[in-house]
Amino acid sequence: MIPIARPLVGDAEAEAAARVVRSGWLTQGPEVAAFEAEFAALVGAAHACAVSSCTTALHLALRAAGVGPGDEVVTVSHSFIATASSVRYCGAVPVFVDIDPATYNIDPALVEAAITPKTKAILCVHQIGMPCDLPALVAVARKHGLRLVEDAACAIGSEIRIDGRWEPIGRPHGDIACFSFHPRKVITTGDGGMLTTNDAEYDRLFRLWRQHGMSVPDTVRHGSRSVIFESYPVLGYNYRMTDVQAAVGREQLKRLPDIIARRRALAHHYRERLAGIPGVSPPVEPEWARSNWQSYAVRLDDGLEQRGVMQALLDRDIATRRGIMCAHLEPAYGQEPWRAGSSLAESERAQGTVVLLPLYAQMSEEEQDQVIDALAAVVADARTGGGAGARKG
Ligand SMILES: *Cc1c(COP(=O)(O)O)cnc(C)c1O
Repeated sequence: MIPIARPLVGDAEAEAAARVVRSGWLTQGPEVAAFEAEFAALVGAAHACAVSSCTTALHLALRAAGVGPGDEVVTVSHSFIATASSVRYCGAVPVFVDIDPATYNIDPALVEAAITPKTKAILCVHQIGMPCDLPALVAVARKHGLRLVEDAACAIGSEIRIDGRWEPIGRPHGDIACFSFHPRKVITTGDGGMLTTNDAEYDRLFRLWRQHGMSVPDTVRHGSRSVIFESYPVLGYNYRMTDVQAAVGREQLKRLPDIIARRRALAHHYRERLAGIPGVSPPVEPEWARSNWQSYAVRLDDGLEQRGVMQALLDRDIATRRGIMCAHLEPAYGQEPWRAGSSLAESERAQGTVVLLPLYAQMSEEEQDQVIDALAAVVADARTGGGAGARKG
């Protein structure tokens, strides 16, 4: 069976986790601080704050951006549901605009028309690792005095060319970027997230809110020679990352360059071989973007039925996933609160015609050829009428 993804973890991570357990300091300690410093240096951000997931990172980012009850946030429906849900955690209304059908990312041309006096922020997503058009989004945000938050859940290691220089996603180019370390992403801590920003005040708020709104962090209390009574000036949450997770994350950061290089080589090979399969289009990478290929998304032409193609591949021991979901089509979004800021036709079409193929750093060329050969056979079957399940009609 060829899986859709497989985290690259091993002895280094196991030993790092054991080191923390033996140290006796299991959360909000030296490993979290070191992971934050190393992550900030990697993406070129002034500050990085570790939290329990990207979803909690998004909640804190939007709260810092001033998003509250009754406000609106312009974002995409075509994303993992956590993007839109983080807006609702703030009591605000997600306003969905459509995607660019080539990149599956927010179409910057549609954002301006969706802005109202209630809009506080734009929440863009670097979908499955593909950078979105940040210069265009920054321009709209600045023009309207809005904060730009980047959902970079999948985008560690992705790069964008700005003023002729390649820069990592996460500097951030907007105001705040949020990353995920779920095992389905490129590097993992089991669960975990990171907020990056160049704004010291935002970073102070993230640290306050992730730890119950407590005025004095554990590190300060533990190190103090005089008695300290903490206070709780604001409502906070428990959004902490543990030191066990952070120690694993530090080992993952060491692997990141090799993981990205391998994923890019595999993506290159997919692109070359897909050229010989009619009806299946490879993903589009703008010349100013370098994806980390967190997922490899192919588009099926009209005439090929998504579920049938996926089932036929599964019958050949190859796992795939449907293209990115649309939050507004889920029962949890059946009623308000959300609003369409444009037609969502391309978002819905992408959900129904895109298939994600297996891609992971340990994948061998033989495994990859197995996937492509199976896909070619399934498509050929469907086109000649043999694979009725995969043929539309
Ligand atoms: C995975 C993902 C999230 C959620 O990340 P968690 O760490 O699981 O909370 C949010 N947004 C996008 C776009 C994602 O792909």
